[in-house]
Amino acid sequence: MAVFGKAFMPEMTLAKFDESGWSRPEIVSSDSISLHPGAHVLHYSSTCFEGLKAFRHEDGSINFFRMDRNIERMIQSSQLLSLPEVNAEVLQQMIVDIVARFAAEVPAPPGSMYIRPTHIGTEAAIGKAAAPTLESMLYVLLSPVGNYFSGGDTTLRLLLEENASRCAAHMGMVKSGGNYASALQPILKARASVQADQVLFCPGGDVQETGAANFLLIDGNEIITKALDSTFLHGVTRDSILTLARDMGMQVSERELSIEELLERAAKPGTEAALSGTAAVLAPVGTLIYNGKEHRVGDGHTGKTTVKLRQALNDIQWGKAEDRHGWLTSL
Ligand SMILES: *Cc1c(COP(=O)(O)O)cnc(C)c1O
Repeated sequence: MAVFGKAFMPEMTLAKFDESGWSRPEIVSSDSISLHPGAHVLHYSSTCFEGLKAFRHEDGSINFFRMDRNIERMIQSSQLLSLPEVNAEVLQQMIVDIVARFAAEVPAPPGSMYIRPTHIGTEAAIGKAAAPTLESMLYVLLSPVGNYFSGGDTTLRLLLEENASRCAAHMGMVKSGGNYASALQPILKARASVQADQVLFCPGGDVQETGAANFLLIDGNEIITKALDSTFLHGVTRDSILTLARDMGMQVSERELSIEELLERAAKPGTEAALSGTAAVLAPVGTLIYNGKEHRVGDGHTGKTTVKLRQALNDIQWGKAEDRHGWLTSL
């Protein structure tokens, strides 16, 4: 389990869609798929994916975290990309079946089994730049993952970028391949020029999200993060952290946050910032880089509230705290 996402279970569940509808899902080898070189996905990016986790509890049970949310988002992504309609029950069964097959391989906390449902347009039709694929393939890959945090107090450096967008505004809430390729050049440039870990996209000065995680600012008892709209990805972790913060009596402000306000608040001692996503839950941000200047967030170290919120979510995922919101479903 060296690098996140490089180890795969040897089999996956797979279903295909064509003019006769969806095939019965099958368990097949995960080492390759066969595609026509003219497949729609390879030319016109008809592709979306999901990322969720299954956790092993001390009693030996295997538990999925908020699987219904990821399935809903996969259905929505497929719709917004004009891919064939995905059925929630079928996708859920595909996830359950493949995790059941590899239940013995689900790592114990802080590890987990990362689940990657993927939906791609497979029709061989290079004339369809402006038409939907009539054929597709849906599969569920598994990748066991270890502890995201290697220990120590490492915080992220983010470059605030107001002149580039992560992706087209109407594609923000779609978990689709092209969006990540689209964000890559700004990220590579930020790494090379200011040794940033990630770019925090702030189109027109409005603080949005990074290439693959949502952004949260924690100022005392208040959490500030952008209100949901179609320009960015609606993270399940974001929603879960905000729910736990409300449970703890924190004030949750879902609203626009300008670069100006962000830097002003970040300069205060005690302010924290974090990135949220399934892989890391919450990753602390220590430095914001803007117009060639570095701004520490609070004291630049991992914040207390960040750790507390991450622990609260991990405790539920790991079966160490009561699942008051019904987020877990057992295998
Ligand atoms: C997946 C993703 C997130 C985080 O979503 P989670 O459901 O919390 O994992 C945030 N932003 C982008 C762009 C993403 O792709």
